Amino acid sequence: MRHSARLEQIPPYLFAELERKVAAKRAAGVDVISLGIGDPDRPTYEPIVSAAQRAVADPSTHQYPSNRGREEFRGAVSDFYDRRFGVTLDPESQVMPAIGAKECIFNLNLAFLDPGDVALAADPGYPVYSAGPLLVGAEPVLMPLLPHRGFVPDLEAVALDQRSRARLLYVNYPNNPTGAVVPDGFFSDLVEFAAAHDILVVHDNAYSETTYDGYVAPSFLATPGAEAVGVEVFSLSKGYNMTGWRCAALVGNADAVASYWRLKTNVDSGLFEAVQLAGVAALDPALDAQVAEMNAVYACRRDLICEALGRIGVDVTPPKGTIYIWAPVPDGFETAAHYAEHVLERAGVVISPGGAYGPNGEGYFRISLTTPDERLVEAIERLGALG
Ligand SMILES: *Cc1c(COP(=O)(O)O)cnc(C)c1O
Repeated sequence: MRHSARLEQIPPYLFAELERKVAAKRAAGVDVISLGIGDPDRPTYEPIVSAAQRAVADPSTHQYPSNRGREEFRGAVSDFYDRRFGVTLDPESQVMPAIGAKECIFNLNLAFLDPGDVALAADPGYPVYSAGPLLVGAEPVLMPLLPHRGFVPDLEAVALDQRSRARLLYVNYPNNPTGAVVPDGFFSDLVEFAAAHDILVVHDNAYSETTYDGYVAPSFLATPGAEAVGVEVFSLSKGYNMTGWRCAALVGNADAVASYWRLKTNVDSGLFEAVQLAGVAALDPALDAQVAEMNAVYACRRDLICEALGRIGVDVTPPKGTIYIWAPVPDGFETAAHYAEHVLERAGVVISPGGAYGPNGEGYFRISLTTPDERLVEAIERLGALG
């Protein structure tokens, strides 16, 4: 069967590849520990589950949702943005539920890109920033995130032709995969750049609630002028242990939110209203303490891993946010993928090779903090024994 040329352009999804390798190892009897995928290991917080159970039993949630979303959900997101980020959003026109950030990011490509258009995408970055534009027949142009620049793109380095064709720009802080947080001033530079070139900024806010050492992550929309040029995709997946629920929101520029709505009315039938009500429970201030407790668990794991990596000669800066450690590949390996193979073969531990996040991820590997403590300790011991 012939599939489309667009599909042909997409490299196999990184985690599909990893899953295949791991399955083969496990079938061969190896006790594999995966530090690959970023998927919280702890259950969704109890008050969210209880709210969802009540919502599922409520027949008002059983019919087709509207793509606009339930009033309670839009209100809860708007209240949260005000309380947490000092950002005022009109719940009627500036908030829409999404079936996870991944759906939203992909569909923004369909809503805003035509063939010949460019989407500027952080490299390394979440793979959908480049696969999305390719799948809609547009062109992803990668913006390198380099350590000496604090893992922010050099906007001045974007070629003139690409600036003029660019319609979208994807960034994400706290950043997957590098763990970097946004340096002062970068969001303002981004607003200026986007306004000058008529580009819609898409800030992928998957990790604002997952931070350490007292760091509090800002919303892009708190930057003066941001609402005129940008949207933010706020996901509940990581911060609330809700990856399986598919619960996110697109917020910000009202025209962009309206375009997304217009597209979505042709693509899907909205987010299950019981999941929206679970999202309402998640965003309640009463949940803050549980989020903080989870972050303390991640911070401990982060410190364990950083120490262990130090012992095998891998120097890393402990990240202030996200659920990832981004570390340089030790000397003696040609590529990060080779190192990942070596670690899987010799230690039965899965790590993510940086090259899978873009050419500028080469030379690094990513470790996820979402493994239960005892397994994490075991993985670290195995890595340490590799020498
Ligand atoms: C995990 C992740 C997502 C996916 O979020 P969902 O809401 O679960 O689709 C999006 N962007 C980044 C940067 C992520 O790390």
